[in-house]
Amino acid sequence: MPIQVLPPEVAAKIAAGEVVERPASVVKELIENAIDADARQIRIEVREGGRRLIRVTDNGIGISHEELPLAFARHATSKLRTLEDLERIRTLGFRGEALASIAAVSRVTMMSRQVDSPSGALIHIEGGVQMRQTKVGMAPGTAVTVENLFYNVPARLKFLKAPATEAGHIHRVVTRYAMAFPEIRFHLKIDERNVLQTSGDGSLYNVLLELFGPETCRQLLALPEQVLEESGASSRVQVSGYAGAPTLHHAQRDHITLFVNRRWIQDRLLSTAIIQAYHTMLPTGRYPMTVVNVTLDPSEVDVNMHPAKNEVKFRDQHAVFRVVQQAVRRALLENSSISTATLRSERIALSAAPLTPETGWRQLAHFGFEVQRTLSSTDAEEASSQARLPVLRVLGQLALTYIIAEGPDGLYLIDQHAAHERVLFEEVKRQCAADSVSMQQLLPPLLLELTPGQAAILEAERATLIQIGFEIESFGGYTYRLRAVPEILASCDPATALNDILSELAEGGVPLAHRADERVITTVCKCAAIKAGQALSLREMHELVHRLEQCEAPRTCPHGRPTMLYLSAAQLAREFGRL
Ligand code: ADP
Ligand code: MG
Repeated sequence: MPIQVLPPEVAAKIAAGEVVERPASVVKELIENAIDADARQIRIEVREGGRRLIRVTDNGIGISHEELPLAFARHATSKLRTLEDLERIRTLGFRGEALASIAAVSRVTMMSRQVDSPSGALIHIEGGVQMRQTKVGMAPGTAVTVENLFYNVPARLKFLKAPATEAGHIHRVVTRYAMAFPEIRFHLKIDERNVLQTSGDGSLYNVLLELFGPETCRQLLALPEQVLEESGASSRVQVSGYAGAPTLHHAQRDHITLFVNRRWIQDRLLSTAIIQAYHTMLPTGRYPMTVVNVTLDPSEVDVNMHPAKNEVKFRDQHAVFRVVQQAVRRALLENSSISTATLRSERIALSAAPLTPETGWRQLAHFGFEVQRTLSSTDAEEASSQARLPVLRVLGQLALTYIIAEGPDGLYLIDQHAAHERVLFEEVKRQCAADSVSMQQLLPPLLLELTPGQAAILEAERATLIQIGFEIESFGGYTYRLRAVPEILASCDPATALNDILSELAEGGVPLAHRADERVITTVCKCAAIKAGQALSLREMHELVHRLEQCEAPRTCPHGRPTMLYLSAAQLAREFGRL
């Protein structure tokens, strides 16, 4: 094909794709604009997961009649003039492309009125083309309505998830801004339901109370007022916020919330700083809940890393890392009575990164063993994965993670978590096939308040969850009543287990699950299985290995990863020079 300059509408759609990935991105950009316009109240309304309608209304400074069309021009912004301005940016927006991008892929109506203007102005744009501009009566501020998102980008439309899932993303976005701006009143309405309302009284704690409820908030520790550090050119880094006590832990990292100069960001390094601050305080594989605000001079941080503006680069990344880690660590230690009381004695954290079969394997290789993997996960070696195990004799536990066992033909190292997953998986499937699932009744039943995203997943997988032993019913809104859980979850906290299961399911993707219900079963088994880092008695190990011997496919976990490594007697003999 010859090289050609793309027609403007094609280029616009391509550029829009970087900013507007899904309805939640639209909500994010519109909220940022309202905050930049000094709004004290922001209302967000969405319908059908934002696909049909998103409306954000603020009481900010507004836009003049003349400038209204300009707001939709690409690279049109009132927030910076020169390249140097970018170095000290204090607003959330600065790229001047959000409105242009949104308008390119939807039908947008913007109404805006400045305080000293007698009336407001309305502009309507479809697929990037201005249709009309008129005067309207309205209160000072701005209201942007986005309808039929992606109506002209079928490829994007196809990738949108169920409305409830998209609503869940939107909920999360609003939640973040509510946390970052406690002085602003946020109101979120999803399909006529008021799902979130903050008071705007300036207290982060009150926002958290509104978002997570008193039970969670009782377990929050305020970070020490300020932690300052002279970093390089005498600038200071300030940290504030809350760290969850070690009693509050989750299966995923996404309960670690980070703001830099009030911008929500994703930063692996800072998340690691926080996770490390909890070292040895949390069960292996569990992550804390924190809300951390980092404040530093804007010239110390580059916010122009990505069109979605949720990644930043620090001039002195290590200083920020240290300050954040110290603040969280101090909060935890100063409240050590809470943190130690919650440590479960049988669970001892091994290291920051839990051992996976892969790393365990590499470690053995490091000791000089030539280890042969009995099966690699994705190979089409279904046949050998079916091979039953010989009778094994348990010798002991290694690193609180692996069971060492001896067979007639060599040494077996069994990953306790993966093995237990396999055992539970086959058990649950057997029970389902025989229509006789074992359940554990909850007395009294448990009321669970889910997020819209979790509720969506629960609804989607409800039939399978019930089939495997959950007894769950709607209790209005996103509240559910849990009456029973599968027997295999009997020793877990039911609320935590269901939470973990729903967030695991939200993560998606289980490679070897051929059938949809297997995905649910796999996830439930994963949550129910013994974790790495858990000390097992000889009897428990014997029992687990014995049950594994009975399995049809004992050599892989339901995700397809190996449950064991095998070192043959011949290999051992060779290594010791006996052969
Ligand atoms: P950016 O936020 O990067 O400047 P946008 O495309 O999001 O770019 O917005 C373009 C301009 O429109 C902003 O710079 C601002 O002047 C104006 N604007 C957008 N939304 C609002 C609002 N809610 N209130 C007042 N002005 C707004
Ligand atoms: Mg903007």
